[in-house]
Amino acid sequence: MRLLLVEDDLMIGESVLDALRGEGYAVDWVRDGALADTALRTETYDLVLLDLGLPRLDGIQVLKALRARRDATPVLIATARDAVASRIAGLDAGADDYVLKPYDLNELAARIRALLRRAAGRAEPVFTYGRISLNPATHEALLDGEPLALSQREWAVLEALIARPGMILSRAQLEEKLYSWKDEISSNAVEVYVHSLRKKLGADLIRNIRGMGYMIAKSPAPGAGGETA
Ligand code: CA
Repeated sequence: MRLLLVEDDLMIGESVLDALRGEGYAVDWVRDGALADTALRTETYDLVLLDLGLPRLDGIQVLKALRARRDATPVLIATARDAVASRIAGLDAGADDYVLKPYDLNELAARIRALLRRAAGRAEPVFTYGRISLNPATHEALLDGEPLALSQREWAVLEALIARPGMILSRAQLEEKLYSWKDEISSNAVEVYVHSLRKKLGADLIRNIRGMGYMIAKSPAPGAGGETA
């Protein structure tokens, strides 16, 4: 999952960035509203964490412009505890939820998971697909109830696909989930992670749709996942 962090305070931004990367998200960080606006016009994000008090363009303006483009990217606004009016303005301008500053990083992570879940049309906090289950809160992956060791990027590829069964994700779309601006991407990175996931989960789970990308079937075949045949 790829997130945009919009926060002008250097120290706060660094701690939030660390915390979100620790949760396994690819995160881009911008420190003013104009850069946020540009990033949102040019890149695709799964969620935006938007501070409202920002230089150059305030958060409400960034949010209004986003929604005016009919862009439904989930937005979590951050406001001071006593700033009720700006919270209301933010929600009415199209924010999906809010967090209070100073951030409680555990609460922030939980609200992000809840929003991502809702955006994917799910109510349950754990992904289950056939014999596989993924828990974004604990980063625990299970196969037939047994712990399955996945690297952070294997997890990210599998989560992206399992969140959208039946939908083809192109290599570029998967790369976007895995990397932020600063990361170097090798040209076959996605193939490498798909290959290692197939070794762990069976060759049939992740399908390669020639010339288009990768997908997981809309519903699991009997015994899907873990078959090495
Ligand atoms: Ca600020």
